[in-house]
Amino acid sequence: MQLDELYRQVIMDHYQHPRNQGDIQGDAMKVDLKNPTCGDEIHLQMALEDNVVSDVRFKGAGCSISMSSASMMTEAIKGKPLDEALLIMTEFKKMIRGEAYDEDMLGDLEALSGISKFPARVKCATLAWNALERIGENHGHTH
Ligand code: ZN
Repeated sequence: MQLDELYRQVIMDHYQHPRNQGDIQGDAMKVDLKNPTCGDEIHLQMALEDNVVSDVRFKGAGCSISMSSASMMTEAIKGKPLDEALLIMTEFKKMIRGEAYDEDMLGDLEALSGISKFPARVKCATLAWNALERIGENHGHTH
């Protein structure tokens, strides 16, 4: 199987069966973001315990790239310290911009690496991550 085909299957699986969808019960930080160029919308919720991402969930509507990226992001950062989640975000954005990045940190997220060849879709792929960045900023972290 070609790598491109494998990546496409990972993306479609997350789009059709999104992980960590819905609302967090109890206290959570919340951010809404839109990508007007494509019409993507995301509502991201995150709960922290001792600065570890104890729960993260999203709701939204949009194209397969934006929604699969959000689903993959929640899987990648759940259970990780917020600082590490923000480092993964930094590496992910490098990958999407076509820059050198740390493959070990990204794992399955590399399925979206092909987006760097499609500038019009970059905003779709980074929407959920920009929401994560906003939560980090609101929490007093800057990267
Ligand atoms: Zn989109």
